[in-house]
Amino acid sequence: MNDLLDFYTNAPLLELGAEANRMRIERHPEGVVTFIVDRNINYTNVCVADCGFCAFYRRPKHGEGYTLSFEQIGQKIDETKALGGVQILIQGGHNPYIPFEWYLDLLRYIKTYHPIHIHGFSPSEVDFFAKVFRMEALDVIRELRKAGLDSIPGGGGEILVQRVRDIVAPKKAGADRWLEIMELAHDEGMKTSVTMMYGIGETLAERIEHLQRVRDVQSRTGGFTAFICWPLQPENTPTMSHMPRTDAVDYLRTVALARIVLDNVPNLQSSWVTMGMKIGQLALTFGCNDFGSLMIEENVVSAANTTHRTTIEELERLIVDAGFIPRRRRQDYSILEAPAGVAA
Ligand code: SF4
Repeated sequence: MNDLLDFYTNAPLLELGAEANRMRIERHPEGVVTFIVDRNINYTNVCVADCGFCAFYRRPKHGEGYTLSFEQIGQKIDETKALGGVQILIQGGHNPYIPFEWYLDLLRYIKTYHPIHIHGFSPSEVDFFAKVFRMEALDVIRELRKAGLDSIPGGGGEILVQRVRDIVAPKKAGADRWLEIMELAHDEGMKTSVTMMYGIGETLAERIEHLQRVRDVQSRTGGFTAFICWPLQPENTPTMSHMPRTDAVDYLRTVALARIVLDNVPNLQSSWVTMGMKIGQLALTFGCNDFGSLMIEENVVSAANTTHRTTIEELERLIVDAGFIPRRRRQDYSILEAPAGVAA
């Protein structure tokens, strides 16, 4: 830990980047950078978790609260498919008014009428369901999976150190619980991603602790497909708008360190949605091998005024300009040939 902290804190930026780049090349020597076309569907913005960094949610009974209907969700999936999308990322607030059957019916409805890969319900949501519906988390995962859930996103991870979570998200799944739910899902044979949102008051040592905890779970399960990190977007957040914005150097150092520590996680995503295209491209030489997703809808980050949008053609050009070969992928990182009639 001390050596890592010393390296993270004191190594020249380019030295850190060169080491991360070496590790990326070792894992992905073919020079391919992947991306996925998908859509983020936030099925409800009603939430009782009150995370201090969240600009997206509305308390119950707030006039701007919503829950989408199955038909609205189905329509969004059809639009996604028409644009060449291969998955939906479905996540929402901790809404106390939705019964468990609603989630199961939704998954069955999607699989029956609008079939697509469903990447959904972060560990925080699974934990919320377990509490509200008085179920074991394992049973929640099994039921969701039986109804059609394909994989679990790494949302709500923030910093997986309890001291930090107690300050910024005390009502949400704690650090141990978040990782426990991921491990349960992995043991059930499901793949998941894992995230880190930094710049929320953690120390650099706590960022390293987060990475090491992820690495420990991965060494037991091998269930994490990818790691994604991004900085807090403080604008419009309930209690964190005073927090300083972290800069691009901090992002590149953090992403590089993640590549070095998470030597057992196969893929690292560049977060151009929060960092912008130029830094997103640069991150490809700081350890990242994936350009994330061409997201058709992203409410949570855009609620904090961070919206970098693009098209498939532009995304591919950006990857080529950065010196890599762009390839569209599926959720499991297998390469997808472009469907007929959609630009490759
Ligand atoms: S981050 Fe998620 S759990 Fe936290 S307040 Fe926002 S919607 Fe709710």
